[in-house]
Amino acid sequence: MLVNKRTLIGPFSQILSLKGLALNGPLADEQLEVISNAAVITNGKKIERVGLWSELKAYADTQSIAIVRMEEIFEKQGKACPKSLTLTPGLVDAHTHICYAGSRARDYADRLNGVSYEEISARGGGIRDTMRHTRAASEDDLFELNLTRLKQHLARGVTTVEIKSGYGLSVQDELKQLRAIKRLAHAGLSQVVSSCLAAHVVPPEFKVGSAFKHHEYLQVVLNEILPIVKEEKLAQRVDAFVEPSAFPVEIARPYLQNAQAMGFDICVHADQFSQGGARLAAELGAKSADHLEATSTADLQALKAAQVTAVALPGASLGLGIPYTPAREALDLGLSLAIASDWNPGSAPMGHLLMQASVLGAAEKLSAAEVWAGITFRAAHALGLSNTAQISSGFVADMLAFSCDDYREILYHQGMLTPSLVWTQGRLQSL
Ligand SMILES: [Zn+2]
Repeated sequence: MLVNKRTLIGPFSQILSLKGLALNGPLADEQLEVISNAAVITNGKKIERVGLWSELKAYADTQSIAIVRMEEIFEKQGKACPKSLTLTPGLVDAHTHICYAGSRARDYADRLNGVSYEEISARGGGIRDTMRHTRAASEDDLFELNLTRLKQHLARGVTTVEIKSGYGLSVQDELKQLRAIKRLAHAGLSQVVSSCLAAHVVPPEFKVGSAFKHHEYLQVVLNEILPIVKEEKLAQRVDAFVEPSAFPVEIARPYLQNAQAMGFDICVHADQFSQGGARLAAELGAKSADHLEATSTADLQALKAAQVTAVALPGASLGLGIPYTPAREALDLGLSLAIASDWNPGSAPMGHLLMQASVLGAAEKLSAAEVWAGITFRAAHALGLSNTAQISSGFVADMLAFSCDDYREILYHQGMLTPSLVWTQGRLQSL
């Protein structure tokens, strides 16, 4: 049921609003706005007011605003109402690859036995293995698989999800992925932002002997895929995996420049294993540089100067057993830092953003405010979304209610405390 009217929702022990915080640099917990004994008034898909329950309740009574009390919601669900509930914005996952078919459990087992990511890729595992399964799946198959993953994400509090193509790696299969993602955007579940990652790796059709013909493949992407992406409005963002084993800097640069000339925003898989990608992201003014596990201080400074958002992907560090993105250093240098799951079948199969962000916070000594910013408004900014991920007037009513009386309980439980209630665009979702 779509709520197309003004509704008072509450009461909440606390509302963590994430309002009024800087887009860049370090944040202290004292800067967080925390409202006790609070409530929100939504108007259709948006948040209209945030304040004390007592004041908003009195206001609602004079304005014939519908009132939805927490006890009523749980009663309808046949559950006991928790003693206290804390409301936060819905989480934003700014980097995923969840439009795929197949499993890479074998790769994972091989990695546990010491085989490197690059060696697995060279023997036909890795991204090209997922490519074979994704090519064999229909658009409907991909839509259904993806819908299941979006629901899993929603149950863990993620209400906005960026999804990349990049496992089709042919004209028809990249478009198939992007069309499935576009359908998800209209499924009424989560806010979906799509990115074309046709430049993920070079597909086997462009392999001659042991050499990959990067340039020839990217010409196909530029001439045959991106024009249709534009025409069908399948994505506004173009991504590239910049790495010697995928697309070296000198090959990625003209490709990304051409994409920009076509009007796309660009983002870059940068410096996961070696340097060069972050420098390129800074040079081209990318919206974000994602990964950065191997980035130098000088290159972080270049990203800061170019106002590129750094996106840390702790799920990939956990999946591959490689160092974390230097998130503390990035913040101290004044960058905007988002934290995303990188959910994909190979290096980051977990897909649990809240758990990964909590773990990164502990490893990198990030304040709760910095972790929350990284999975809410700073991540939304990286995706070009300006009215998402704050409990604040005029913002989209994507909200989570956790069963606790203090927002600090949420990161403390490291992902094991998941939301009891999730609203997207003002609508209560059944989990
Ligand atoms: Zn990725």
